[in-house]
Parts: sequence; structure tokens; C-alpha cells
Amino acid sequence: METQNPKTTTTTTRAKSEEQFRQAVKLMPGGVNSPVRAFRSVQGTPVFIREGKGAVVTDVDGNTYIDLVGSYGPLILGHAPETVLVALTKAAGRGTSFGMPTELESKLARMVIDAVPSIGRVRMVNSGTEAVMSAIRLARAATGRDLVIKFAGGYHGHSDGLLVEAGSGAATLGVPSSPGVPAPLAGLTLTATYNELDTVRRCFEQHHERIACICVEPIAGNMNCVPPVKGFLEGLRELCDQHGALLIFDEVMTGFRVHRGGAQALYDVMPDLTCLGKILGGGLPCAAYGGSGNLMDNLAPEGPVYQAGTLSGNPLAMAAGTAVLTELEQPEIYEKLDTAASQLANGLRSAARRAGVDLLIQHVGSMFGVFFTRQKAVTNFDEARACDIEAFNRFFWAMLERGVLMPPSAFECWFLSTAHDSEVIERIIDAARDSLVQVAASDGASADDQAAQPAGSSAN
Ligand SMILES: *Cc1c(COP(=O)(O)O)cnc(C)c1O
Repeated sequence: METQNPKTTTTTTRAKSEEQFRQAVKLMPGGVNSPVRAFRSVQGTPVFIREGKGAVVTDVDGNTYIDLVGSYGPLILGHAPETVLVALTKAAGRGTSFGMPTELESKLARMVIDAVPSIGRVRMVNSGTEAVMSAIRLARAATGRDLVIKFAGGYHGHSDGLLVEAGSGAATLGVPSSPGVPAPLAGLTLTATYNELDTVRRCFEQHHERIACICVEPIAGNMNCVPPVKGFLEGLRELCDQHGALLIFDEVMTGFRVHRGGAQALYDVMPDLTCLGKILGGGLPCAAYGGSGNLMDNLAPEGPVYQAGTLSGNPLAMAAGTAVLTELEQPEIYEKLDTAASQLANGLRSAARRAGVDLLIQHVGSMFGVFFTRQKAVTNFDEARACDIEAFNRFFWAMLERGVLMPPSAFECWFLSTAHDSEVIERIIDAARDSLVQVAASDGASADDQAAQPAGSSAN
């Protein structure tokens, strides 16, 4: 990507990343194991990472970047924190998997139950996808109903039936629902508009006796960062109670991120079932779902609802998760994350004003959203999609050139960690100042380009 920045003295080369990607494409579909990593939505090829420490990652060419991806959420303590390394080393030396119960599982379960107010019993699984899929099975079993309400732009993993109007990866690929999902399964999912209770009410009016649950991200994080408007979560709780449906909070992203007790603790709205993941595993594959003991005891072997996993409660994941949650017991950690996020928001806003770029920042603590738009707020998926994706893409490459690695899609949140101290934040803001000027400058240029091209030739 061509960027002429007078302040950059060396031209960044990513030759090794490019070569490794060429090899990877021959081995894996699109060269990756999860679509967003392929950099398609920013119309480039991916950076291959060699290692990370704290707030910084180093690519295979030796370039270093301040990392805002944070593995898409898990790394709230930054890369390779000492406490996790120690816990992992200790656990690994004792064996990596047994298929038998261990005390480590009870230890992490206890911490989850103590932290998350609505959870009385918990089941560990291996991915967020699995957690939500299983929670929905449980909700269907407990209610004896089949239909699920989700929200456009809400992402709950890639299980059949939830790949209906899903955000982030699915949104940027332009496949709102995937081939291979049988129509009868997708037909069991009703889609409402985030932050618009009326659209949920309409679902209940049409199907009320058939709706098993509402599945919602209490802060939407897969259509960029879209917080709930006042009364939205409370309204969902009320509708569920009125109609005998269960409320599932998918807190895979928000759990331990916006508050130790998740978004439910932050907003004081209690779901029936909660899905966790990402931070829970401390960077290892791990997720969970939980609720009241009564509800959870429908699960096998206590009850009839089947769900199992060879590596569920894996000792390494339990050890890493326990280490991270222990660190998060210090109450000042969330204040520090909030302070860093506010510093970043203020810095970016003033940089944008100076550059003459319309930029909207929405963040809940260290879950951080940057929108190129004149809108005063983005409250749902349509509004998120209406933002200037081209401007975002130019910003992405300009920032990368200046040593800041953002998630390569306008629909992904940025994630700060405790390693993003005020000096790191200042460096991000510095990079953004120049990058936004560059975005503003190329704005006119690209408008001219488009005028010179036949209609329909531009990407998107
Ligand atoms: C990441 C995410 C998932 C899926 O988790 P995986 O571990 O990627 O399967 C589900 N729900 C939400 C809200 C997420 O952010």
C-alpha cells in the first residue's frame, strides 16, 4: 500500500508476510483459519505475526506495531503477561489433558460464579460458538419452544441458525446468511433491530407461544461498538418475562471486558443464561455458559439435555483463565482501562476535528468503536453499515504504516489492554493525527477517481 508520509524515514516492508501468505493460501482456504484475518475487507494481504509482548506485536519482517486487535478480545492483560506464562508452564508440566475432572475446573468455575451475578452453575466449553449454540439448545429444552430472536448485526458464532444477518466477518464478506445453512433451520431464527424494542414486540405478537429465547449481545461488538440505548436491555427482560421466553446474554466479548461481572453487572439487567468466552480463557480456547442451578441442571448428566466436549475444561485453558481472572480482581484495573480509553477517545476526536474528518467514537470502557460518519450516534446495524468504509480502509493502512495495527475491518471493535498505558495511547493518537490528515487529503482524490471511472467499477 502506497503511503507517503514525510515523517516516516524508513519504508515499511512486509515482504516476508506476503511470501508466507502466498504459501498459506495453497494450504488453507484464503490462507487463514478465520475469515477476517485475510484482510479482504481492507483490500490487502495480512500481516503475519511472529510474537507479541504487552501492547506490541512484531511481524515476521521485524516491524513492530501497537496492537489494537488483542486477539479480538481475549487479551485484556496484553500479550504474554507474566502471570499467564507462569500458570501455563506449571499446568503444562503436569499434563495437558486428562478427560477426567480436575480441581482447576472447579477453581475457574468458582471465580465465574463469584464474578457474574446471574450465574449459579456453569459449563465450560471450547469456543464462543459452542457456548451460544449450547445455551440455545438448553433454552429450547427448558421452554419446549423452537424460535430464537436475534438482532441484525449480532454475531453469536458460526453455528447454523445464528448465521442469519450476522455482523463483522459475515457482514464484511457480504454473506448475511451462509450457504449450507438449511432454510428450515434459518427459519427458526427471527431477526429484530438492535435498540428497537418495537421490532422485538412484533416478533412476540406474531409468534409469542413459540419463542424460546432472545439472544443478544448486551453491548453489540460485532457491528463495531454499539452500546444499548437506555431501557433496551430492561425492555428485553420485560418482554421475555411477559411471554415466558428466556433471555440469553451473549457476553463472549463483554464478559470481564466492560466490568468484572460483565455487561449485566454494568447495566444491572439479569439474563437467564450467560455465554462467556474470549477473556475467560486468557488467550487459550475456552468458553462457558451458565445460569441458575435449576436451569443448568437440565444438562446431562444431571438432566436430559446433551452437551459434551473432549477438551472442555482443558487444564491449560483453566490455568490461563484463572490467572487472568485473578489479576482482574484488582478493582482499579477497570478504572485504568476506562481512563486509557477516554484518553484515546478524546485524542482521536480532537485529531479528527483538526483534520476535518467526521469521526464518531463510541466505547464502553476498553471496548472501543471508531466510525467514519457524520451521524451523532450509531445504534444499529444499518447505521453502522452507512458509515464510510472506504475512509476507514484508508485510515487502516495509514495507521499500519505508522506502527499501529487496527482490526482489519470497519465492523470490529478495538480492544485495549492494561499494557496500553498513557504513553502507548499517546503514540496511537500521534499516528492518528497524521493518518487522519492523509484520509482527509485522499478523500478529494478518491472522489475525483470515482468521477473518472465508469459507474460500478469501485470496490464494494
Ligand atoms: C467472538 C464472539 C463469539 C464467537 O466466539 P468464538 O470463540 O469465536 O467461537 C460469539 N459471540 C460474540 C458476542 C463474540 O464476540
